[in-house]
Amino acid sequence: MKFSEFKDPIYVTKPILPNLKSFSDALRPVWESHSLTNNGKSHQTFEREIKDYLKVPNVSVFNNGTIALITAIQSLRLSGDVITTPFTFPATTHVLSWNNINPIFCDIDPVTMTLDYSKIESLITPKTTGILAVHVYGIPCYVKEIQEVADTYGLRVVYDAAHAFGTEIDEQGIGNFGDVTMFSFHATKLLHTAEGGCLTYKDASLKSRVDYLKNFGIKNEEEVIMPGINGKLNEIQATLGLCVLDILEEERNLRASVRDIYFDKFRGIEGVTLMPHVPGVTKHSYQYFPIRIDETQFGRSRDEVHSILKSYNVHARKYFYPLCSDFPCYKQLASAEPGNLPVAQQVVSEVLCLPFYGELKDGIAEKIADIILSLRK
Ligand SMILES: *Cc1c(COP(=O)(O)O)cnc(C)c1O
Repeated sequence: MKFSEFKDPIYVTKPILPNLKSFSDALRPVWESHSLTNNGKSHQTFEREIKDYLKVPNVSVFNNGTIALITAIQSLRLSGDVITTPFTFPATTHVLSWNNINPIFCDIDPVTMTLDYSKIESLITPKTTGILAVHVYGIPCYVKEIQEVADTYGLRVVYDAAHAFGTEIDEQGIGNFGDVTMFSFHATKLLHTAEGGCLTYKDASLKSRVDYLKNFGIKNEEEVIMPGINGKLNEIQATLGLCVLDILEEERNLRASVRDIYFDKFRGIEGVTLMPHVPGVTKHSYQYFPIRIDETQFGRSRDEVHSILKSYNVHARKYFYPLCSDFPCYKQLASAEPGNLPVAQQVVSEVLCLPFYGELKDGIAEKIADIILSLRK
């Protein structure tokens, strides 16, 4: 072995944390108030700061991204069929099931790996009410083209932007596209509250509906006006979110240098495809660093690279393998037929998310890249 294995495991990401003293100082007013949840002070401040950061007109924060996305679908009253991507984290498809909606899988674009807008039209039926697309790895969907299809057929558009916190197109926040956008604040996401999430939306009149839905539908002491759920973010986690926001730019800058290291190492290497450059993207989310390995050109399969990296204690991830359309709960759907999703099937056999977080800049990212390069045949 040319390289020594890493003493401590290197995972795909590492949550950033404020120092404990600043977090406990920030918690003091929460302790003193004894107000721990239900739209408290930290919740309100966090919601305002997220709104500014994301450059969006309306935000509702939630206890996690999945509940937020379930609520988004409820708030738009979607039903019947919704067209979506199979190449995503399981939550995207599951939120449709939790709303008694049939997911209709649509193939993805070979370059951006997001929904192939040119294939949406042929999947629309009288039962179709919406499109649920994902800015996978923080790469923006074809938002303009998707909106055109939606407008032609009177469909609603929901975006899963769990990976796209901070992404901007022409300096516009990614949360300004479509009807509703969900961001996740799970611990593995760049901005996190350990568990949490939010919805952003253009239509200010949705705010009251979304906020009722996330609080049991309670309007006041005597009126419950819709079948809501408990989607509230508590004060402790909202306070953590505020502290994480304070250190976010520092981490973004570090991740930018890790990204540069990987780009320099892999640029021009046959058999390795890097994140595509999407025109118009003026700010990146720095959420993931996926590469695609073409077995015939690289001489090794993605699975071989993945398992050899493990022997060095490097735990890269095959996000998002397997495709949602291949889960036992969805694979009987007509749209899940692998022959209908040739690009997604190909991409999912090639992708590997490399460890990607600020601390890797001190020689670690270089070594991971060198290990991978040494495997090339
Ligand atoms: C993380 C993630 C979610 C789920 O968010 P939670 O906050 O963990 O519920 C949904 N979709 C995608 C694409 C994700 O990566």
